[in-house]
Amino acid sequence: MTAHFRDTTAPAVAVRRFGLYIDGAWCEAADGAVTERRSPAHDVPVTLTARATVADADRAVAAARTAFDDGRWSDLPGAARAAVLLEAARLIRARAGELALLETLETGKPIAQSHGEVAGAAGIFEYAAGQARALHGDSFNNLGADMLGLVTREPIGVVGVITPWNFPFFILCERVPFILAAGCTVVVKPSELTSATTLLLGEILTEAGLPAGVYNALSGPGSVVGRHLAEHPGLDMISFTGSTEVGRSTLIASAGNLKKVGLELGGKNPQVVFADADLDAAADGVVFGLVFNAGQCCVSGSRLVVERSVADDLCARVVEKLGRLRIGDPLDETTQVGAIVDERQYRRILDMIETGRREGARLIAGGAAYEASRGRFIQPTVFTDADTSMAIAQEEIFGPVLTVLPFDGLQEAIRIANDTCFGLAGSIWTRDLDKAVRCMRGLKAGRIWVNCTIAGGPELPIGGFRQSGTGRETGAYGVEEYTEIKSTHIALGERVRWVAP
Ligand code: NAD
Repeated sequence: MTAHFRDTTAPAVAVRRFGLYIDGAWCEAADGAVTERRSPAHDVPVTLTARATVADADRAVAAARTAFDDGRWSDLPGAARAAVLLEAARLIRARAGELALLETLETGKPIAQSHGEVAGAAGIFEYAAGQARALHGDSFNNLGADMLGLVTREPIGVVGVITPWNFPFFILCERVPFILAAGCTVVVKPSELTSATTLLLGEILTEAGLPAGVYNALSGPGSVVGRHLAEHPGLDMISFTGSTEVGRSTLIASAGNLKKVGLELGGKNPQVVFADADLDAAADGVVFGLVFNAGQCCVSGSRLVVERSVADDLCARVVEKLGRLRIGDPLDETTQVGAIVDERQYRRILDMIETGRREGARLIAGGAAYEASRGRFIQPTVFTDADTSMAIAQEEIFGPVLTVLPFDGLQEAIRIANDTCFGLAGSIWTRDLDKAVRCMRGLKAGRIWVNCTIAGGPELPIGGFRQSGTGRETGAYGVEEYTEIKSTHIALGERVRWVAP
């Protein structure tokens, strides 16, 4: 396989400095500490960000609590909240170039992809603006002449949001506009590797008219600041997106005040390909699902569950297409696959490739890092002759590594596809509607794609089954997630006395 690898050169960009964004203004960390971020593709410093302490987190929670309790946001009509969200969408589009560049410099993802994600994020703000106006409850007018029942929704309160490094701005914007639409206030802690765009959103929201204290963002180490937020008695809810391991610890840490917890976690997602599928389209989808975001994607199609009779044919097509990818410098507009986010992740992916070799799977593509003069890049890698007992078929690798698992018949396809602890997403490739629907019903996953993969938009909800999480983001569900439901019985007329007169 000879994918087109383009080496990087040091980009001519100035290092940008970011503070914390608390109570409507930029500020420094309490102890003045900063974190330097080097571009994972170019290995030069690109941002310097204030590193929050627990005291800063307490200040952010206090600002969000005051902003929630005095009703400066939650008491506004939905239409007024929608106006702010729409203006934020406009400003995101106006600053798209700046946001996309920061995203690429901190994550290593292709610049064309960053542009797509920023435009998508603006679209989510627009969709959520509609949800701010559509949010409503229910009524029961069937309780008899003397009773009316109301079900009203209220904002849940102050929400803590903890996000990962793979889609820093997009994942943020799958949550924050809905939280704001519901009338809540928020404290966000992005990954310390990729905080710039999350912090910048604070400035954008203030300019859009969001009152001070409603959106607060602080960068800092997860084990200190993230954990402190999970434990914080001042938060009513925590929305965590990241690994299953840290999600579990967040759930435990949040138990003190029994805050509501939303978890969007890892996946080991199957691409199920039946023999009757358009194999060229399926191979294209498998390649996209494997290498999108260099495989650092919670919904990556990292297991190819393929009908045995076409397995060799499909694998040959996949390998041929991998050889035609444009991999390398993410600042090149034509690049399709960029860098691996940091040294830890890079080592983990290479270790898992070694594990696959040791387990006896057969390597038919990739299997090593690219020899790059700067940055970290890994070759798209494919293992065949695998079985479901292998670590490469069970563990989330979070890199461009595909494990091929053949099947015979629909029932075996479903059994293999469901044979992990996860349940985030799955793709099905077939021309047979009957098979597609039966397979869709059989897969234990929150998101299914038929004859496509990693398609999406804010209309449909996202979230996982099993150890891929709890709760749902986006869609009408995405705003309801951040509300409490209150039932009210209203008695009319004279009370029938319980205590005898
Ligand atoms: P991670 O779990 O290491 O970190 C996620 C966030 O949690 C970061 O902000 C981190 O600083 C913080 N954190 C770390 N330790 C913490 C602690 N003890 N308490 C509270 N917060 C803590 O994940 P990552 O490496 O940043 O991202 C990769 C993982 O995220 C993968 O497993 C991927 O599948 C998952 N992910 C899931 C979704 C989804 O929607 N389901 C989306 C993207 C990523």
